[in-house]
Amino acid sequence: MPNRRALVAGLAAGLALAAAPFAAFAQEKLPVVASFSVLADFVKQVGGDRVGVTTLVGPDGDAHVYSPTPADAKALAAAKLVVVNGLHFEGWLPRLVKSSGTKAPLAEATKGITPLEADDDHEDHGKAGHGHAHAHGHDDPHAWQSIANAKVYVANIRDALSAADPAGKAAYEANAAAYLAQLDALEGEVKAAVARIPAERRKAITTHDAFGYFVKAYGIDFIAPQGVSTEAEASAKDVARIIRQVKTQKIPAVFLENVTNPRLVEQIARESGAKVGGKLYSDALSDTGGPAGTYIRMMKHNISEIEKALAAGPA
Ligand code: ZN
Repeated sequence: MPNRRALVAGLAAGLALAAAPFAAFAQEKLPVVASFSVLADFVKQVGGDRVGVTTLVGPDGDAHVYSPTPADAKALAAAKLVVVNGLHFEGWLPRLVKSSGTKAPLAEATKGITPLEADDDHEDHGKAGHGHAHAHGHDDPHAWQSIANAKVYVANIRDALSAADPAGKAAYEANAAAYLAQLDALEGEVKAAVARIPAERRKAITTHDAFGYFVKAYGIDFIAPQGVSTEAEASAKDVARIIRQVKTQKIPAVFLENVTNPRLVEQIARESGAKVGGKLYSDALSDTGGPAGTYIRMMKHNISEIEKALAAGPA
């Protein structure tokens, strides 16, 4: 009796729907919000086709100074999981979460990572009178720039996805294991590239202090006129100090960043005689067609630009 069979099948589907609302239909994906593009890529790598990711701060976007939109609030309200960096990277997020009314769990991808202190030997930008108005912690949020940390991000995301969608646990674990192996290979490539750069040339300039974890993990020294956030402008004094430093320490190159205005480092290059290396992707991926459409492509692109600019001596 086909009708009866259809009824039973319908009932079974209904039960499955009640038990695991997001796994019942292949086309129904777990709605996940990621605060910025690097996290969105990790969620896609681990979530595979079980998840649908909405990214708040998209390709080439600056998450330090983002202004959320009504669409962001809507995405949060519909989400079953929200993945954020933490370490005060997304200062605009708590208000957005509150106004969206979302009930979704918030997973901090940096959970378990030992944060680096922000290197604040920068001038206080004349803000001394404001006391601790900017006292939102002095942790450096750019932890993803170390691949060892990226592996912690991926493990946290795997566990958060498994908690939000237990039916997908095996898939998330398999995807994460495969991806973690790719990250191991990536780390080997980055270290090999650094080893090819003469030790005395392992130093460079970027606009903002986004590479502290990279410096610590791989031994390329990055100096920046701007602090760990892009919120505060670099002072003329900081810029002058860096120009002197480039000259006295013979720093070979300055790098542009995808999330900051190129003018500052171009000025430093002009006034110091350092060459402009390529563009590094610091706080955001490129769009998928660009050179840094995924985290792995971003790290490969960055180290390749760094090696090109630093490995060869002056012509
Ligand atoms: Zn940054």
